[in-house]
Amino acid sequence: MSHAHGTRVQEFIGDPVSDAPPVGREKLEEIFQDIQADLRFDHELNGCLNCGICTATCPSAHYYDYSPREIVQLLWTENLEGIYDAMQEKIWACAQCYTCAARCPFGNSPGGLVMLMREVAIKHGMESARNVLRPFSRVMLKLISTGNQLSPDMISKDGFPDWGPNISKVDAPLATLRKAIPVPTLHTTKTAWEVNLKTSVELYTIWEETGVLESLKTIDQNLFDVITDIMDEKRDEWDEFLEDQEDEDED
Ligand code: SF4
Ligand code: SF4
Repeated sequence: MSHAHGTRVQEFIGDPVSDAPPVGREKLEEIFQDIQADLRFDHELNGCLNCGICTATCPSAHYYDYSPREIVQLLWTENLEGIYDAMQEKIWACAQCYTCAARCPFGNSPGGLVMLMREVAIKHGMESARNVLRPFSRVMLKLISTGNQLSPDMISKDGFPDWGPNISKVDAPLATLRKAIPVPTLHTTKTAWEVNLKTSVELYTIWEETGVLESLKTIDQNLFDVITDIMDEKRDEWDEFLEDQEDEDED
């Protein structure tokens, strides 16, 4: 039986008063297929009662225009436009605490699904991903160059306003206090602790094999270039160390 009006399919998504070009249906489908293709997708989405338990227990839902129930419903009903729309801002509100996963009667993991959507947003170089990840470039650089995400000398009052009154503790003489710690690898404020060269080089292999560096390239080409230079230098250092060891063994 044919229906007079059929099912309405939105061919493009876009804001009519914005200069941003509308997004075609092909792109929307490609993005959803990337989310669905992830091995974790079927484990984390088993159905949805639309009961809202996840949203009732979600800390982010209390503070932002964000609802894990809405995200799961969009994925469950394959609402391509809604999924794309949520990836512009809402998915970045999740705190990844997984309270929702512990409570969902269907065994869904809304927080896990948000993680998949974030990864796909990065893969597609979405503006929302660039904006959210930009402040982390300093942390990424620190991680690659030292093996640490954060070091005591990065902690400043301006950088961590969300610490509230605790931020006053950064006025403490950190360099002196660190030297008082009995573990020698902690006697520095330039890194949280010293990571040896072999571990750093092994970390680079993990980042390459897991696609972390490829994702970084999509989001920030300049940072990627700086980081690959640092990695090459450290790998050269490691090769030289191994050669020296071999020479010593031969002597
Ligand atoms: S994801 Fe689970 S808890 Fe949330 S609305 Fe659906 S069934 Fe309910
Ligand atoms: S993981 Fe995200 S969606 Fe789930 S309860 Fe925590 S903040 Fe909310």
